[in-house]
Formats: sequence, structure tokens, C-alpha cells
Amino acid sequence: MNSNISIEFFPPQTPEGVEKLRATRVELAKLKPEFFSVTYGAGGSTRERTFAIVREIASEGFDAAPHLSCIGSTRESIREILAEFKATGVRRIVALRGDLPSGMAEAGEFRYANELVEFIRAETGNHFSIEVAAYPEWHPQARSPKDDLDAFARKVKAGANSAITQYFYNADAYFHFVDEARALGVDIPIVPGIMPIAGFTKLARFSDACGADLPRWMRKKFESFGDDSDSIRAFGLDLVTELCERLLKGGAPGLHFYSMNQSALTSEICRRLG
Ligand code: FAD
Repeated sequence: MNSNISIEFFPPQTPEGVEKLRATRVELAKLKPEFFSVTYGAGGSTRERTFAIVREIASEGFDAAPHLSCIGSTRESIREILAEFKATGVRRIVALRGDLPSGMAEAGEFRYANELVEFIRAETGNHFSIEVAAYPEWHPQARSPKDDLDAFARKVKAGANSAITQYFYNADAYFHFVDEARALGVDIPIVPGIMPIAGFTKLARFSDACGADLPRWMRKKFESFGDDSDSIRAFGLDLVTELCERLLKGGAPGLHFYSMNQSALTSEICRRLG
């Protein structure tokens, strides 16, 4: 068991996607991750699909960690989901606020992730290990870095055991965030979220939306490759491997890979890290 790595999937929309994810898991299981996590669509849109993948992972003998977002949910619906998780043997949850899907006006009974963490603890005691999200480059809706850090500390105080960060490519942002969190008395592990780079255009669009910074030097270099996918892949692998090395050397307690349901890049980065 390699306690330094965890790997994230999203629930596929088609039977072919589910089949492909099985093959991806066979490959990634060789890395002996501590757990596989499965994302949860905004407003509960993937509830059944997330749960189906979680059940499959658990039946293969791995630790499966469903993500659970609370925005737009009632206490009763979250209570039901927690009971379902418990019945399936789930012991770890990634607890999030989530984002209200466009067109969904009803905000539900939870406003922020700290309220979900509190609710999980109140309902289920210490049954679940709770992971929360952290933002080294700050959440896009945060009023200020200090507010965001305070919000993070509230989630920890509410009972989170560990945190996974949004992805980033600037190691200093992570180290600064960890220092600031420690100064506030936060002592849980803060595991960097790592996004391997498969292509650049999509990543740039996605990063804008979630507030992850793509440094200019890196953007310029990727843009210079045009549609030369071999060069993009080679540079992306070097860049992300170096980032991981720096993070681990600087004291990061592990790495959480956003696999995008693909095994090749995550496997290659881990192989290079040894
Ligand atoms: P929170 O911690 O509640 O913070 C949200 C915002 O509110 C922040 O700007 C914070 O500063 C602010 N805030 C918090 N408390 C207060 C307060 N009391 N008053 C004022 N402002 C406050 N999304 C999904 O839909 N499904 C997933 O599976 C998923 N998985 C993720 C996994 C990871 C590791 C990460 C980093 C993100 C994931 N997301 C997922 C995205 C996440 O749902 C969004 O970033 C969402 O906008 C914030 O969720 P949160 O849990 O960080 O919210």
C-alpha cells in the first residue's frame, strides 16, 4: 500500500466509458493508491452514477471515496446518502459545497462546505474520514485570501481529517498556503491536487473557470507547440513531474491525481518519481 497517492475519477456517462474506466483502474491499481475518489455532479446530477462506480471500486477491494456536494440539497437527502455510503462500507468522503447548476434556483439547506462537514460529524460521528477542498491560489468566489483561508480553517474545525487542493502549477503558492494554514492552527495533511497535462486548450479553458493559474512562461511554451501533441505531452510530463518532485521534497504529505479517467500520464509521472 502506497499511502502517498490517491487518484480521482469522474463517473462516465456511457457503458463504454464505464468499461474503459475498469481498464484504467487495473492500470492505476498497480500504483497501490491509498484510495480512489469519484466526483459528484453539481446538484446531485450524478448521484446514481457516482455511487455505481464507488460500489464497483469497493467490490474490487479498494478504498473508494465518493465526493459529496451539499449545495441544493436538503438535510434529509444528505442523511439518505450517508446511510447508503455506510451500508456499502464507505469510510471516506470528499465533502464539498459544489456549485449550483445553472438554472437551479433552489440553494437548499446548506450554504458552505463547513456546514456539510458539521452535519456529517453530527449524524455519523467518526465513522467517515472527511476530506475537504483547499485552494492555494484562492477560490474564484473568495472575497479575499484571508476570508478563503478562514473558510478553510472553519472546515477543518468542523471535523475534516485531511484536505486535497485544487490543482496548480506554482509550487510556491502551495507552500505559502500551507504556511498560512499552519499559522492559523490547521494541522491536518494538505495534499496537493495534481493535474497531468494531456492537452493545453481545454486545460486553459478549465483553469480560467476554476481559478487555477497557468503561468505565462508555461502558457507561451505550450502555445508554441501548436497541435504537435507529442511535444505537448513530453513538456507536460516534464513539467508536472518536476512540480511533484518539488512538492514532495518541500514536505507535501502525498499527491492526489486528477486522472481524468486516463491511466497513461499518472502512471508515467509516478514511474518517473520512483
Ligand atoms: P466552500 O469551502 O464552502 O467555499 C466556497 C466559497 O465560499 C469560497 O470562496 C469560500 O471562501 C467561501 N466561503 C466559505 N464559507 C463562507 C462563509 N461563511 N461566508 C462567506 N463566504 C464563505 N465540485 C463538484 O461539483 N463535484 C465534485 O466532485 C468536486 N470535487 C472537487 C474536489 C476537489 C479536491 C476540489 C478542490 C474541488 C472539487 N469540486 C467539485 C469543486 C468545488 O465544488 C467548487 O470549487 C466549489 O465552488 C467550492 O466548493 P468547496 O467545498 O471548496 O466550498
